[in-house]
Amino acid sequence: MATLSDFPVQHGIITNGHPVFDRPHRLTGERFAAMQNANILYEVIPFTYEQKKLLEFLETGLEIGIWQIVRKSKRSFHISVPLYFRKEFENAFGALSFNLKLLGREVKASTSNHQKICKSAPALRDAPISFKKYHRYGEIQDYLKYLSLEYPNTVCLQNYGVSYENRPLTLAYVSTGGSKPIILIDAGMHAREWITPAQALYILHALIEKKENKYLIEKVDWIIVPVANPDGYEYSHTVDRFWRKTRSKLKNGARGVDPNRNFDFQWMQDGASRHEVSQTYCGPCPFSEPETKFLSRLIIKNLNQIKLYISFHSFRQCIAYPFGYTHASPHNAYEMHQLAARAEEAIYRVHGNHYDVGSTLQVMRKMSGSSTDWAYGAAGIDLCYTFELPGGGTRGFDLPASAIPTVVTEVFAGIKVFHKYVQLNYTK
Ligand SMILES: [Zn+2]
Repeated sequence: MATLSDFPVQHGIITNGHPVFDRPHRLTGERFAAMQNANILYEVIPFTYEQKKLLEFLETGLEIGIWQIVRKSKRSFHISVPLYFRKEFENAFGALSFNLKLLGREVKASTSNHQKICKSAPALRDAPISFKKYHRYGEIQDYLKYLSLEYPNTVCLQNYGVSYENRPLTLAYVSTGGSKPIILIDAGMHAREWITPAQALYILHALIEKKENKYLIEKVDWIIVPVANPDGYEYSHTVDRFWRKTRSKLKNGARGVDPNRNFDFQWMQDGASRHEVSQTYCGPCPFSEPETKFLSRLIIKNLNQIKLYISFHSFRQCIAYPFGYTHASPHNAYEMHQLAARAEEAIYRVHGNHYDVGSTLQVMRKMSGSSTDWAYGAAGIDLCYTFELPGGGTRGFDLPASAIPTVVTEVFAGIKVFHKYVQLNYTK
């Protein structure tokens, strides 16, 4: 087993009441990956306001890849800690009077288990794609091609760019012709949030293949990007189920930038990290990643028509509007709030599940350089949302495939509310 001396890391220093876990110097990518293989999972429930704020801060600010902290619910956080780092972690958190509950050894590579569940899931009768399993990028591309061949008058595919590893970045343009307001939806920006491409695909399927929804494409066009970060998505299927970022090569052997901190609006402010190994690394410069650069170009190109932008993430179960970088409210915050609240009501009526509604900073956390803040603050799209789908599984991101139909159908009820608003307010 690896010992501490194998990994020259400064750690566990208490400074001004805050634990400081410094960057792991001299770690190459391979050794870094190796040391992450054996992890212990803890549950932490903050008892004081200060403890809660500290955990939220650590979740984005100082989280540097040695351990990962994930908010599990309104009250509890899960922290995954490498085995070799256990003692230092317990000492540091114990010194701050946190109550740590040991949940046990974490099984890291759960991709194969997922695939086992996936293979046994039957397809929905009326769809040539199943919504009872998660799909690989190739399968998703095949379904897009199928739609464009089967419904050539309604669906047009476009490769709007190429990923770092040369995968096509593909969108489906749903239109019955003419110049109409556009609803733009992206998903899969964060690789491990598998429920989000499933959601985007379900929206496509429901818009195109369900006759009762024909009215949804008559006066509004849709641009749907099912997988905005295909390199990361594939990596989360083949190597690390909980990979979040892109796959670009960085200094010190580290890989990946957080695409949702890489947009050129209030870039590298609070709520994003400058450390390459961090889960929220903002990148060496704004739009350093082809995935964010091409998505922003796509949005700019269609700016006159795009009236509503939704970026799907998981797993906070909320509908959040700008801003994430500041407490200041956009001029039409009330409008965005009311619209999201109406969508939430429609969602609730389907299965009785509640989604929080508020600004990104209110319902999630501080973040800068997000696609939604950029789409609103820099591109100037009227209505912008980060739509966080529900969580499940061991770490929230690994919602079991059996839950897909519940999520995608209830959220589609909310999508219909957004559509109605765009149609009423932006069609001539
Ligand atoms: Zn996300």
